[in-house]
Amino acid sequence: MVGVRDTLKSEAERISIDKHTRADELRRELTLHDEARAKLRADLDNNAAAGSRVYTYKPIVEGVAQCPRCWMLHGRQEPMLDQGSIEEGSSLKCRACGLQVSSGS
Ligand SMILES: [Zn+2]
Repeated sequence: MVGVRDTLKSEAERISIDKHTRADELRRELTLHDEARAKLRADLDNNAAAGSRVYTYKPIVEGVAQCPRCWMLHGRQEPMLDQGSIEEGSSLKCRACGLQVSSGS
C-alpha cells in the first residue's frame, strides 16, 4: 500500500510540475501581450492626436504659408517658401520636410 501511495503522490507531483511550467509560460505570454498592447495603445493615441491636428492647422501665419505635413505629423509650424516663377505660378516648398505644393492651378 505504501508503494501505491508513493506512486500516486509522485504522479500528482509530476502533474504539479507540468502545471507550474505551463503557468510560467502563460505568464511570459501575458507579459508580451501587455507590452504589445501598450505599444498599440501608444500608436493609436499618436495617430488619433495627429489626425485631430487638422482642427488647429493654420495654413497661413502672419502672411507666411505653413507646411501641413510638419504640422500634422509633428505638431510643428514650418514656413513654406515660395519657389515659383511668373511662368510656373506659385510653388511652395517646406525646407524642413521637402513637401512641395503648387497653388493657384
Ligand atoms: Zn514640412
